[in-house]
This record gives sequence, structure tokens and C-alpha cells, in this order.
Amino acid sequence: MDRYRINPGQAVNLAQWDPADRSEFEGDKDAGRLATKELNNRMEELQELLYAEGKHKILIVLQAMDSGGKDGTIRHVFDGTNPQGVKVASFKKPTEKELAHDYLWRIHRATPGTGEITIFNRSHYEDVLVVRVHNLVPPEVWGRRYDHINAFEQMLADEGTTILKFYLHISKDEQKKRLQARLDEPHKRWKFAKGDLAERERWHEYIEAFEAMLSKTSTVAAPWYVIPADRKWYRNLVISKILVRTLDNLDMHYPEPEDDLAGIIIE
Ligand code: AMP
Ligand code: MG
Repeated sequence: MDRYRINPGQAVNLAQWDPADRSEFEGDKDAGRLATKELNNRMEELQELLYAEGKHKILIVLQAMDSGGKDGTIRHVFDGTNPQGVKVASFKKPTEKELAHDYLWRIHRATPGTGEITIFNRSHYEDVLVVRVHNLVPPEVWGRRYDHINAFEQMLADEGTTILKFYLHISKDEQKKRLQARLDEPHKRWKFAKGDLAERERWHEYIEAFEAMLSKTSTVAAPWYVIPADRKWYRNLVISKILVRTLDNLDMHYPEPEDDLAGIIIE
């Protein structure tokens, strides 16, 4: 899975990253789903252990084009985990109150505490993505945010947060299919926003913004992964693998019980 990780400072040309890649798995879609299910069971155990141990904090950042699969990833990868220990923070257009503060204000307060996994559905990276593409602030303002973000994430890591960042990479053609499906299927229509079409017209500008983000903000403390996301099953499999491996490496243990519990019999 290391081939999907961006090294610090690595130049990124997304045209060279195949959104339909599936080269890290030999089997077909059904086999892939089965493998994800097994990883999911392990994920449940690891999340329980994380919660019980109460030592580590896990932050997962998801970014993608519209319809890139952020919601689906959350549903599948964390299926069966305990909602007491897993939180999702979705970042929308900032409110007036949020805009009255610096752009990391709303982010910092949503970061995980000990024993928690927090998933960011969009994040502070919007402040160098949509904000950059739409000139919501001048270039010198968004331009210095990459450094702020690296310093902020380094601070979180120094204070005990494990950070993983996933850019879900879909093709423009796959987006077309997914947006069309949102229009065609009544139960998906609520997800369609007319604004998504205007964003789609700026596809290339977004790609440039994602490339800059990936290249400038993938660090040892908080690496970016470019996840091939045209195939949903492969996307779920790759992310599950990276997460399980990362949690396994934390070498967690259940807390020691209070001593002398062995002889106790409940009347
Ligand atoms: P959705 O995730 O589909 O509900 O859409 C949320 C919308 O909020 C997207 O269009 C984002 O680009 C937008 N958004 C999120 N964060 C920011 C931000 N910091 N500034 C401006 N727009 C944002
Ligand atoms: Mg949307």
C-alpha cells in the first residue's frame, strides 16, 4: 500500500495516477469485498482496544471531488465499529461565526480525544481547495496556509495524534456517472446540488489545487495517500488495509485489571 503514499515534497501529477487502478489485489470484486469484510472485523477489534486503552487519538482526513466517495468510505470502512468511540465531523461552507475566526478554529475543536477515532469529511484542506479555486481570499492568504497546516498537524502528532489523510481519486468520467445517477435515482436526488455542476466545470483547477495540497502537505507526521476510487470496492479495501496496519502498529494493550479479581464470585 506504500505505493499510494506521497513522500514529503514529492511532485504530484494526478494524470499519472490511475483512478481505476487495482494492482494491489489479485482477486475480483467479490473476493475484494470479502477481504474488506475480514479487515472490517479486525477493525472492530482494534477500535475497541483503542477505546479501552484510552491512550491514542486517531484522525482520518477525507478529501475528494464531489461524488468522490467520502460518505461511502465512512459507511463501509467503519461499519460495525462502536459509535461511542468513532466520530465524524463534516465541514460545510463556514458559518458567519466560523468565518469570524481563523480557519483552523472550527477544525481544532473537532479533533479526536484519547481513545477516539475522528473522521473528517472535508477538512481544513477546503481552505486551500475551494477557497483557492474560487479566490475566496487572495493568493498570498491561501498560499501561506500550507505551512500553517503542516505546523498544526505536527503539533497534533507531537501531542499524540496519529493522522492519516486520504485523497479519493476519481476520473472525470466516473464523476459524470455518479452525478447522473444522483439525478436519475429518486433516493439519491437529495445528494445532488446544482452547484456541483459549476464545480465540475472547474475540474482542472481543482486537480491543480489537489496536486499542490498533496505535494506540500504530505509529511512524515501526517501523510497523504492517493486512493484509486473509481472502483468503490477497491477504495474500501485499500483504505481498510492502511487503517488496520496503522492501528496494528500502535501495539495497543487492554488496561491491566485491578489486581486480585480472579477469586471474586458474583453472588
Ligand atoms: P457537501 O460535503 O456535499 O455537503 O458540501 C459541502 C460544501 O461546503 C462543499 O461545496 C465545500 O466546498 C464547502 N466548503 C467546505 N469547507 C469550506 C470552506 N472552508 N470554505 C468554503 N466552502 C467550504
Ligand atoms: Mg455535495
